Amino acid sequence: MISAIKPLINKLYKLDGDIESIAGYEDQNFKLTTSDGDFVIKLSKEDQRENIEMQSRVMEALRGSDLKIFPSLILSESGNSYETVIIKDIQWILRVIPWLEGELFASSDKSKELFIDFGRVLGKMDICLSDSQLWSKRKEPYVWDLQYAGLSKKSLVHIKNPADRRVSAYFLQQFTWLVQPQMEGFRKAMIHSDANDYNLLVKDQQISGIFDFGDAVYAPIINELGIALAYALMGQTDLLETTRQIVEGFHSEFPLKEEEIDVLYYLIAARLSVTVCQAAYSRYKSPKNDYLQVSEKPAIDLLHKWIKINPHYFSEKIKLHLGLTRQSKTDLQEFKNHRSTHVNPSLSISFSEPIKMVNAAFQYMYAADGTTYLDCVNNICHVGHNHPDVVEAGSSQMAKLNTNTRYLYDSLNEYATKLTSLFPEPLEVAFFVNSGSEAGDLAQRIARTVTGKKDMVVVDHAYHGNTLAGLEASPYKYESTGGLGKANHIHKMPSPDSYTNDEIQANQFADDFRQLVENTDGIAAFYSETIVGCGGQVVLPEGYLKGIYREARDIGAICIADEIQVGFGRVGDAFWAFELQDVVPDIVVVGKPIGNGHPMAALITTKEIAEKFNTGMEFFSSFGGNPVSCEIGKAVLSVIEKEHLQEHARQVGNYFKTELKKLQGKYSIIKDVRGYGLFLGVELVNEGKPATDITKSLIEFMKQNGVLLSSDGPANNVIKIKPPMTFDKSNVDEVVSKMDGYLTKL
Ligand code: PMP
Repeated sequence: MISAIKPLINKLYKLDGDIESIAGYEDQNFKLTTSDGDFVIKLSKEDQRENIEMQSRVMEALRGSDLKIFPSLILSESGNSYETVIIKDIQWILRVIPWLEGELFASSDKSKELFIDFGRVLGKMDICLSDSQLWSKRKEPYVWDLQYAGLSKKSLVHIKNPADRRVSAYFLQQFTWLVQPQMEGFRKAMIHSDANDYNLLVKDQQISGIFDFGDAVYAPIINELGIALAYALMGQTDLLETTRQIVEGFHSEFPLKEEEIDVLYYLIAARLSVTVCQAAYSRYKSPKNDYLQVSEKPAIDLLHKWIKINPHYFSEKIKLHLGLTRQSKTDLQEFKNHRSTHVNPSLSISFSEPIKMVNAAFQYMYAADGTTYLDCVNNICHVGHNHPDVVEAGSSQMAKLNTNTRYLYDSLNEYATKLTSLFPEPLEVAFFVNSGSEAGDLAQRIARTVTGKKDMVVVDHAYHGNTLAGLEASPYKYESTGGLGKANHIHKMPSPDSYTNDEIQANQFADDFRQLVENTDGIAAFYSETIVGCGGQVVLPEGYLKGIYREARDIGAICIADEIQVGFGRVGDAFWAFELQDVVPDIVVVGKPIGNGHPMAALITTKEIAEKFNTGMEFFSSFGGNPVSCEIGKAVLSVIEKEHLQEHARQVGNYFKTELKKLQGKYSIIKDVRGYGLFLGVELVNEGKPATDITKSLIEFMKQNGVLLSSDGPANNVIKIKPPMTFDKSNVDEVVSKMDGYLTKL
């Protein structure tokens, strides 16, 4: 190639010197060293002709700028800004540009002054480019044009790491669904659209060159900053400060509007996501070309940091810095008072100072006051708050069809088949309802219908739901403040503990069960959680359910397992917690995580029981099993599978438990660390008594330090850990080190 270029350059430009190949994205680039200076020779494919003409116009416009940092094309001997040449039977477009002096921005040291100058230069450049003569749109949407970030969604499948894939998918969805519609009517002009750190040169801590106008496009002006920041922030530690500096520089030349700053957070994230998607796609297409992946690692690292920044905080801080807005504060007390006027006042609010939430992403929650919280509590948003696959599934089905089970539709058949396939035989029939309480209520009803008995055996401190039957079966409620006490048909077993030998406990509980039912007229069901949640994250002793199920079945009772808190892979070693006990219940109720926050639940039972319940009275739920719920349920299952979340819960949960046990070794107040996978409990006991106050104050401390936890158990001294399943080891480190910080001060 080089030997063919040399005579051409000589003939067409009267230039002579040494030529060497240099990196390029789409073009073939070479450096020409001559005695009169150095040049870049660019060879572009014929299909780039229109783009090259656009670039020539842009570079021509920038010739008028007082900034001497833009390359201008060297005219050929015939006076053309480019020439068409044939090399080895292929037609190329040849251009020559002076070599700009400086070090690549990518590898230079970066001072505050440099970042401000970078912003300023971009602002000045964009003023120059806002001349309407230049405006040119591409014929085809282009993946690197941020307006078309959504095009990269189809490359998400090529991202191998689930955590990388979902963060990119999340930001692309936020951008296309929420941000893009807000940008209708934004100021547009021609922008460089690719001020990345390999297209910038630096000399004496000032920008000395900006080149490669191949991506220049007519677009919202704020996209210029979104793109530039996406690259400039890679590898930086203080992301907000660097953003402030660059935006300040830009704003000093090209004043920004509030609405433009409001979308900046998402523009930066969208560009990073496009970078990650395109790198994954390029690897799939041409695994050997490393240049295509040059920004991949820093982009993905930055995305994982970015998601921890509260978008509201980001926008407010930048606007404050530019003087576009004044500090505002929500009056939470007034907000709270307003809520209790019109909303059921018996609803409790977590923490002494309530939190007003605005939005969330996976294990992070963003509060109105700008704080980002790490959510260690919400086992409902199982695959992560706002998981894009679930949002997509629910919203698009809502836009298509939402009806009830009195019609035939694919979603119900598909979902019922998929869900029941996750249960061991003979559990194969599903009933769909709207909440865990409703599923539990139905379970009791089925048990009564099938056995002709009414009495239930439940476990102490259990919670099964807020319906009348649910409350009756929940010692956690009927025995606490405002509770009506134990109903006659309810028989309560003691709860196991986590300390007594498993074998002794298991046998003893089977005996307890036998004694408890001795003087009854028969039992409809033994109804228990498979790890006692509200009772204090109590893991059932080995053989516990086996023994009691045997006794229960001996007297014709049905065994109901409440998997509402723990199901769907959370316990790591199994998909359902009953599997840890090596039993198969007759009825399983599932809820909470089933819809990632969408109100749905289900009951799964055997064909035999379902048929016996079919007495002629229809069981119908207006919403249960509707197409939207089914699509959401399908999406949740598919995410668990695709992202290997059960195995992830096992690994991260084991790590969490090990780290907490290390804390236990340090602090005697930690009596016990227990649980499976990402369903853990930390019991605090001080001088032989439940450390209820310390538990409360630890939770408050953690909240003040950005970590959401809750407590439960009969004495409220068990810290409950049940985060969204996207929770990772770095999150574990954060929680454990903050807990350590509190305990060390005790
Ligand atoms: N069973 C258990 C074990 C639960 O934890 C809950 C909710 N806390 C329920 C049943 C009731 O579910 P829902 O709130 O969806 O009605």
